[in-house]
Amino acid sequence: MKIITVGAGPSGLYVSQLLSRRGHEVLVIEEHDTIGEPVQCAGLVSSTFADTYGSSSVLNVIDGAHVHCCNVSFDLVRPGVASVLDRAAFDASFSDGIDIERGNRADEIRVARGSYLVSTPAATHEADIVIGADGPSSFVRRTLGFPSEISFYGACQQRVRVKGDVDDTMVTVDLKRPFFSWAIPEGDGVVRIGTVGTVSSLERFKTRFGFEGSILGRTGGIIPVGTCSLIRGGAFLLGDAAAQTKPLTGGGLSFGLRAAELLAEAIDQGDPCRYHHRWNAEFGREMSFGRSIRKMYENMSERDLVKVMSILAEKRERLEQEADFDMHATIARILFSTPRFYPVFGKAMATLVG
Ligand SMILES: Cc1cc2nc3c(=O)[nH]c(=O)nc-3n(C[C@H](O)[C@H](O)[C@H](O)COP(=O)(O)OP(=O)(O)OC[C@H]3O[C@@H](n4cnc5c(N)ncnc54)[C@H](O)[C@@H]3O)c2cc1C
Repeated sequence: MKIITVGAGPSGLYVSQLLSRRGHEVLVIEEHDTIGEPVQCAGLVSSTFADTYGSSSVLNVIDGAHVHCCNVSFDLVRPGVASVLDRAAFDASFSDGIDIERGNRADEIRVARGSYLVSTPAATHEADIVIGADGPSSFVRRTLGFPSEISFYGACQQRVRVKGDVDDTMVTVDLKRPFFSWAIPEGDGVVRIGTVGTVSSLERFKTRFGFEGSILGRTGGIIPVGTCSLIRGGAFLLGDAAAQTKPLTGGGLSFGLRAAELLAEAIDQGDPCRYHHRWNAEFGREMSFGRSIRKMYENMSERDLVKVMSILAEKRERLEQEADFDMHATIARILFSTPRFYPVFGKAMATLVG
């Protein structure tokens, strides 16, 4: 099969690598000259994920989080639970042996006699299959009219060499709707500080938690959360282009790479629908649960949010032992084991159906 992948992020590179190893002829089109740049990510992943996909790109290992929400604060500790990646190196590690047209943006896609013609300012390429792995604003998704219902959240982040002492083993998270603000130590006193929101809320977070210092770099990006068709004729969407992100945190690396495996298998077996079916079987419930919890989180009163966080603070030992970094349904199980949660849940359900 001749395949064109638009977008050389981790999802696009990985699916292309898997398909070329299986003998398919794959070309990746990437608008930037350098793979992995610019970095638009905090690079925090579970250590299980890092061990599987990117151990050579790990900069730091995390033992837990200081969690804050309004007047509730608690620590969650699980030694070695997460890893901080050098995201540019991580992306580049998937590019070996792949044909990549760099520095050119795919700006036209036409369908002709069962083939796809994908153009950049430099050339037009023909393929049997097109994979849109071109990130949250996906040109492929928009051009080929994939049905979708996606909310987009703007995020900003700074790399800061913090003035005072930094505990390099703990992440700091302050729940601020619609998501949260974060401080993720990458080692040697350098911390990735970000928020889903404005630069001024990022600055307030830095001041409140003592993360001021010299700014080494600034970045921003978009987090997509929602639903999207994955297949349209011989075209497929993958990763952020398909909103394959965790609805509660916006993290997309683990879902994107797993989806790449499912897509490569489906294309290789000549059974495209298998991609959709297997994705839904593995992630469908988790995604719809996550979207419902996100809606509740965004809409509940501050008083109820504090009640929920107080329950989680009490149950932190169970969270430390049972919660999964990537699959968040466990959090609901823990909340539902506490009768005090039911009235809050009732009110939140009313906002969902109202
Ligand atoms: C501030 C921020 C922090 C984040 N932190 C985390 C985190 O800690 N952990 C985590 O798991 N996830 C995190 N994420 C999400 C994560 O970065 C994404 O889920 C991940 O990058 C998705 O990978 P992808 O390959 O699907 O898309 P992308 O990484 O977005 O790659 C898409 C590629 O397509 C290229 N492209 C786009 N359009 C075209 C075109 N028309 N032609 C050619 N090339 C094109 C782009 O240049 C890009 O290289 C964060 C996101 C943001 C914004």
